[in-house]
Amino acid sequence: MANILHLHQVGKVYRSGNRDLKVLDDVNFSVEAGSTLSIVGPSGSGKTTLLGLCAGLDRASSGQVELNGIGLNQLNEDELASVRNRYIGFIFQNFQLMPTLTALENVMVPLELRGEKNVRSRALDLLDKVGLADRGHHYPTQLSGGEQQRVSLARAFSNQPQILFADEPTGNLDAETGVKVEKLLFDLNKESGTTLILVTHNLELAAKTQRIIRIKGGKILSDTLTA
Ligand code: ADP
Repeated sequence: MANILHLHQVGKVYRSGNRDLKVLDDVNFSVEAGSTLSIVGPSGSGKTTLLGLCAGLDRASSGQVELNGIGLNQLNEDELASVRNRYIGFIFQNFQLMPTLTALENVMVPLELRGEKNVRSRALDLLDKVGLADRGHHYPTQLSGGEQQRVSLARAFSNQPQILFADEPTGNLDAETGVKVEKLLFDLNKESGTTLILVTHNLELAAKTQRIIRIKGGKILSDTLTA
């Protein structure tokens, strides 16, 4: 299988006040299309930063991030947004639904942005896929954490992403609800071949992915295949 993602000597420095904080240093790895990978490590080790660089939410300070052979550092904001729209889905620990929109409208937004047809019925199908067809008219505050995360999955699936990034997708959920959300993620990988990259503290979840990258202090400590 071809690689969908390639990182070459990636570094990230945040400027805070007049000080530079080096958060990632010389990170190198490639990810095979259709595979599943977890990134684990202590708090503050740079996991979320790394995920954001891979997903085109932020830019590397040095080195190269390539998605489908496209160098993300070279793109302007519009081009980067278009790459995100075409190829990428993203799930956040705190769901990040738009609070003034219903569940259905939250899922409709990316479809509308892409100029798709039959947006309402497509969004309903997506809500149905995550078991929430009857909750479309609810606002995020009227949904449980697990339901909000399932709406955010439906939203992330809406552009049929080639690669889905999830930052602590089950971190705010109870164990039982977390397992339901995990199943949706792994089903997407199996059924659609969507590459799955997770950041997680949950080592049981990490062990279910095919590969685990451990980082500490912004550097890769180990990169191993799971049994
Ligand atoms: P992790 O996800 O492993 O907990 P993060 O990538 O969130 O780590 O953060 C790594 C380090 O970068 C931390 O020291 C954090 O405080 C710092 N950091 C994260 N985002 C920013 C930012 N936007 N500006 C400045 N420092 C940041």
